[in-house]
Amino acid sequence: MINPLYKRIIWLLWFFLILPGIFLVYYFFPPLAEPFDIHLLGFLVLTCFVASTPMIINNSPIFFIQWVSLAVFLTYGLFVEMIFMQIAVTALFIRIKLPKESWYRFPLNWAMFFLVSLLSGLVYYALGGVHGIDIVTNPRNLLLAIIYALIYFVLNQVFITAISFILHGNRVIFDQAFIWEAVTTTLTIPIGLILYILYREVGLISIIFVGIPFASLSIILNLYHSSNKVNKYLQQAGEIGHELAERLQVVEVLDLFLQRLTEMFPADFAYILDVVEDKELHVIRSVEAESDEPVEIRPLKMNEGISGTVWATKKAVLYHSRKEWEDIVHGYMPESVESIICVPIVRNNEVVAVLLLASKQKRAYEKAQLMIVDLLSSYFAVAVENARHYEQTKEDSERCALTKLYNYRFMEKLLVEEYNLLESGNRQQLSVILLDIDHFKSVNDVYGHQSGNEILCQLADRLVSLIDQTGTVARFGGEEFVIILPDIEKSSALSIAEFVRQTIANRPFLLSQHIEDNNKEIAVQITASIGVATAPQDADDAMSLIRHADRALYVGAKRNGRNKVAEYVK
Ligand code: GH3
Ligand code: MG
Ligand code: MG
Repeated sequence: MINPLYKRIIWLLWFFLILPGIFLVYYFFPPLAEPFDIHLLGFLVLTCFVASTPMIINNSPIFFIQWVSLAVFLTYGLFVEMIFMQIAVTALFIRIKLPKESWYRFPLNWAMFFLVSLLSGLVYYALGGVHGIDIVTNPRNLLLAIIYALIYFVLNQVFITAISFILHGNRVIFDQAFIWEAVTTTLTIPIGLILYILYREVGLISIIFVGIPFASLSIILNLYHSSNKVNKYLQQAGEIGHELAERLQVVEVLDLFLQRLTEMFPADFAYILDVVEDKELHVIRSVEAESDEPVEIRPLKMNEGISGTVWATKKAVLYHSRKEWEDIVHGYMPESVESIICVPIVRNNEVVAVLLLASKQKRAYEKAQLMIVDLLSSYFAVAVENARHYEQTKEDSERCALTKLYNYRFMEKLLVEEYNLLESGNRQQLSVILLDIDHFKSVNDVYGHQSGNEILCQLADRLVSLIDQTGTVARFGGEEFVIILPDIEKSSALSIAEFVRQTIANRPFLLSQHIEDNNKEIAVQITASIGVATAPQDADDAMSLIRHADRALYVGAKRNGRNKVAEYVK
């Protein structure tokens, strides 16, 4: 953003320096034409036509005006060339609908072209250049004309670079736009010379003779540039697709997708809205410029607002300015938004989510970008589906289906990992609590197997909330549970075990699915026997740690009358 003060200074400088400057040029280098000459008008029309067919590179317009200005300069002199360039800049900005907050670029560019015209003209005169000369048979004249054109180009670049450095702190000189400008200038200088020569030979009709090949050239260049651009986008999209496919977690996929999108496209705002139960759109991820706080956004119904419409129609939309979507929007949309891309994220022909990208600039997006976003969205949909699948499979393979606790397989792996940490010195202690419900067979016999399951589930919940972050609870098998406690010494493990024992024994379990007739809940009292072992003192490897806890459980607790905590003793 440009400081408003700068903008005012630019306007003032233009008014007090450039405008009088133009009058001085008129005074010292009077035009070589009558004011309302029909030929002059012909050149003016050509200038406006060429100025209003710019090529947009990296969001900045480039116009191929130099060849016209060269012919005008050689024919009519400095003043006419200067005025035409001022008009050309104006025509260009009108054509690209320069937004109001950028209007300071009018005086800025008028001033820049004033200086470029003036300085290159002065150099031309200093080298002895005159107007209306013959450049076909006189090589010196031709050379002067070419020198003029080159100086013009170099000065133009110097000013552009200086301005973008002063206003935007931009140090890049040889960027893409520079290369295009250099290429097009080299291509069009001969056209300017031909226009000049032809005009001297055949008059006004030369404008048409030269204008048509130029228009073709400009169309070809534009096509070339846009296909180049689309190629680049496609390549980037492919890379992003690969990256997305590599992510195994849904959150990772979401984050990466938004991050890459906002890097690739000029987006100040980005939202992913999830279709929830086929009824509503909920924002599940958002990125907003100038704010790290997640915004509270009300859900949208089908056909409501921009996203709701995209959901309903399954069609992507592209808006260039606020005017175009003002009547459609519903609910939240940041104040400063102008351009919007909104695409449905489709899987199996169903819209599963909606993506919305927005920019503060008008005309920030073009059709090709909409297509690429659409393509990326389908990569995204596949990546999310795969990640979801992976998460589910992982969950299934690690957890017990009944209690949702980690299963034996997971516990075994974790225990080995923890033991390795202990051996490598990253842990000081590793305690294990093993727990077996007392007389569980008779619980099954009295209340039924289903009730037994209920107790197992409730016990699992109790254990998880009791242990919380201190360790990991797993189902060891049947009615046996294991708790792994990294960096917990023996005495603390024993008190945790005692606490667990009391939590089971002191509070009955409520059964609803028992086999007795009355459908009332019944309370069942159970107890558990517990064994504790701690590495390194009680074991030399992971599995013997478990074995020793098991031994403590049977020898110390079960044999001693159950409902007890026992520690391993060698
Ligand atoms: P104790 O441990 O006190 O010696 O007696 P117990 O009755 O608990 O004996 P044991 O450990 O040998 O028997 C375990 C019983 O737990 C056997 C089986 O009926 C029951 N059981 C094991 N897995 C499940 C399960 O998933 N659901 C239910 N309902 N019961 C199970
Ligand atoms: Mg058992
Ligand atoms: Mg038992």
